[in-house]
Amino acid sequence: MDKDEDQYQPDTVAIRGGYQRSHESEHSEALFLTSSYVFENAEMAAKYFSNELQGNVYSRYTNPTVSTFEKRLAALEGAEQCVATASGMAAALSVIMALLQSGDHVVCSQDVFGSTRVMMDKYITKFGVQVTYVPLADLQAWQAAIQSNTKMMFCETPSNPLSEIADLEALSAIAKQADALFVVDNCFCTPVLQKPLLWGADIVLHSATKYIDGQGRCLGGAVLGSSDLMEQVVGFLRAAGPTMSPFNAWVFLKGLETLRIRMQAHSANANELANWLNAHPKVVKVFYAGLEDHPGHALALKQQSGFGGVVAFTVEGGRETAWAVIDSTRMLSLTANLGDAKTTIVHPATTTHGRLSEEARAAAGISDGLIRVAVGLEDIADIKADLELGLSAL
Ligand SMILES: *Cc1c(COP(=O)(O)O)cnc(C)c1O
Repeated sequence: MDKDEDQYQPDTVAIRGGYQRSHESEHSEALFLTSSYVFENAEMAAKYFSNELQGNVYSRYTNPTVSTFEKRLAALEGAEQCVATASGMAAALSVIMALLQSGDHVVCSQDVFGSTRVMMDKYITKFGVQVTYVPLADLQAWQAAIQSNTKMMFCETPSNPLSEIADLEALSAIAKQADALFVVDNCFCTPVLQKPLLWGADIVLHSATKYIDGQGRCLGGAVLGSSDLMEQVVGFLRAAGPTMSPFNAWVFLKGLETLRIRMQAHSANANELANWLNAHPKVVKVFYAGLEDHPGHALALKQQSGFGGVVAFTVEGGRETAWAVIDSTRMLSLTANLGDAKTTIVHPATTTHGRLSEEARAAAGISDGLIRVAVGLEDIADIKADLELGLSAL
């Protein structure tokens, strides 16, 4: 895009922002599949290496295809800067390694993504960073957990898989008062449905692996925020190396072009499925913030422009019956991935949340009768029919 990108609406930036091409005038973005770059002469090489001239030196530092992805996602999130990473977990790790040090304390919502929790409990604590877990929607618990050395508050909203909603504006205020950084994993909503930076968050994280790709092909992630903070994250990434592959960036660029219409379609399908399940005689309870009786419904209406694609529900009984429902479906993909055009189904207690202790699972509300569906883009009639097949096994 030649003109100043600020002149364009987000949908246009998602499709045309940060445009980079090779010398071939290709219309689709160029894939710069290269680890390094050549210089005209030795003097130029010295200037690039000393930062006297800005340019591509090595793809662990910068790559034009990755830069295009970063510019587009930054525009969509309304962030000053975006840094792409090798995976969603690499994004979380980079933020923690770059911005925390031994003696610091983190307050984290208890039902964050499973690997986030393992990373915090098993690895971050090894380096003298302390972590306290609180229920996502309990503002008093967040406030009470703040210590004099609290440097970061970390949450994921809506939560996986129960769709609990964090009050982003209130949590931002608590973080500000505590002089702590507020980090939000925005993977489930993407900037299409929710922009945490607008509610006062300091940093947004993404697993691009999910909705940004949208078709289950590549691993990737991103960190977004102010240039000052991102400079520190970039410093860690360049030194330590969990950067995004240019090939994956190229796939994600294509994902961003259709992200808005996909997120709206995921939300519409999920909303219809949640209401259908809610009225189903064999379903005990449905967890989806789009339902009016969900405790997070009003907050979701305030800070999200859609409720997203993840629906969870419980059936009578426990593991046996939940497994029977899952095993009796024929079309839905039994896989822990989400954010895919194909609808996926999974039993959280024995897969995504299987590594948690029984007490931690109970505290997070993950019962044995719980089933999670990440609603895809197939015809909703076929998704319902397949789940009907599953439920009729009971
Ligand atoms: C998948 C996921 C992650 C981790 O992302 P990877 O790309 O798998 O490393 C982090 N947070 C949430 C909410 C996720 O769903």
